Parts: sequence; structure tokens; C-alpha cells
Amino acid sequence: MSASKRKKNNAFHKALAAVLSLVVIAAVFFLADNFFFKDRAQPVSGPSSLTGTTASSSTEGSVSLSAIGASSEASSTVGTAAAKTSAQTAPATGVTALPADGHYIQPAGSVWYLRLVNPWNPLPDGFDQTVPLVSYDSHDQFDNRAVAALGDMVSAGQSEGVGLVVASTYRSVALQTTLYNNKVAELKNQGLSQADAEAQAATVVARPGTSEHNTGLAADIYSSSYMKLEIGFADTAAGKWLKANAAQYGFILRYPADKTAVTGVSFEPWHYRYVGVDAAREIMSRGITLEEYLQEKGM
Ligand SMILES: [Zn+2]
Repeated sequence: MSASKRKKNNAFHKALAAVLSLVVIAAVFFLADNFFFKDRAQPVSGPSSLTGTTASSSTEGSVSLSAIGASSEASSTVGTAAAKTSAQTAPATGVTALPADGHYIQPAGSVWYLRLVNPWNPLPDGFDQTVPLVSYDSHDQFDNRAVAALGDMVSAGQSEGVGLVVASTYRSVALQTTLYNNKVAELKNQGLSQADAEAQAATVVARPGTSEHNTGLAADIYSSSYMKLEIGFADTAAGKWLKANAAQYGFILRYPADKTAVTGVSFEPWHYRYVGVDAAREIMSRGITLEEYLQEKGM
């Protein structure tokens, strides 16, 4: 190679290197902008983003019960879109509400049995430790002010031929945090980013402080002939009996199939919540949700 050719060649390589550097720098800025700053500029999507999701089989049933008897359900968030939104606005494990964006925010000071807990109304730190718990059976605890109602309902079902089985009741926020963090870690091990892992985890395990099981007032109930937390339970004799009779004992079907945009949780025919007999009768007879009932009453 002649000296001039070598010179030309060097100049060409230098120019090429410069162009490549620019491309790399541009790419880094583009990626950084998309991954780190994009969410700041994006409006938080509200209920409209929830409505596209249908209540198919819930995520609760897909997770096996742990040795401690805690189902990881906890507020199976409706759809990844909603979960992503919350991931962009809330820290991983803190008890932080989503922006209300059309959702009812309960005023402070509600009566204990009407306490609203959902993705927009998380429990304050330490709340679960103040719940007056009592053993319901060998491995489940419930709020002692409502445990008799739960027992009466289960007994009544049994005497009427549907073998109700209480699968899961109270769960501490600490346990919820462990379940949630384990899920995030598992997803990160599969290669997801922190943000994506948190968003996806929230579709299977409720963010700590947003599960009704943290209140000691919610119970997952199935039957001895259908021991699965799946939507098929709705069509069983036990599922129908519960829906028809729970209100007499102060319980409501908390997550109806047609109300996922309101509750933020997909259809869970097994999840019953104690709200007291008066509220339960009105909610169940009108086919509304706890959110709608409280908003109407301003409670
Ligand atoms: Zn539940």
C-alpha cells in the first residue's frame, strides 16, 4: 500500500469511527429517554385503560398456595396496562396509592367494616398490625369482630348441603411484601428490568397494603367438591349459594365479573368481604360494588 493510500485509508477509518461514535451516542440517548424519562411525560391512564380487560381466569388460581396457607392472589390487578401504570408511579414496596383519576378515595375515619382497600386506597403503614385478630381455624386468622359471621355463614352452607371451605383469610402486609418481592426477584432473574418485573409481579401478587386480605375481613372460600380458586367456582352449587346468601351474614361478593374497571380486580367468585349486614344487603341486592356504595353515601 502506498503512503498516500495508507493515509487515505487512515482518514477513512477515522471518519468511520467518528460516525459510529455518533450513532452509539445517539442510541444511548434514545434508549435513556425511552426507558428512564418516558413515564414522566406520559399521562397516567385511568379507568379507561382497565375496561379493555376481561375477567378470564384470575391470576389468583394460577399461583400455588404456599406452605403457610397464603394464596398470593391479593388483588390480581386488571391487566398489564394498569400494572404498568402503577409501576411507573409507585415505588415497589411502599404503600402508595395510584392517582385517583376518577376512582373514589375514601375519606379518613371510616367505620372499620366499611374500610375501602384497593389499588387507589392502600392501607397506611402498620394498619395490619392493629387488626384485632382471632384464630378462625388452625391456620387462619380473622378480625374478631366479624369472625362469628364468617363461622355462621360457613355452618349455614354446610347445613344446606354445600360444603364451604375457607381457603385463605388474613394475611399480614409483611407476608404480602415477601410474596411480592419474591415475585419481582423471580421475574428479574428471567431477564426483566426492575420496572417490568414490578409491573408484571403486580398482576399476580397485590402490592403490599392494597390487598383486602391485609384487613382480616376478607376470605377466599371454595367448596369440598371444588377446591380451586378459579372462576368455575361461580357455577358450582356452593358458589351460587354464597352469592345468594352471603349478604345475610354481612358478606359481599367483592369482585363481580362486570365491575373490574371499578374494583381494579378481575372476577373472583371465591373472594368474600365482610361489610356488615346493612351494606351487604344493599350492595348484593343492587349488584353494585363497595366502591360505588361508599361513593354514593360519601362514606
Ligand atoms: Zn381473596
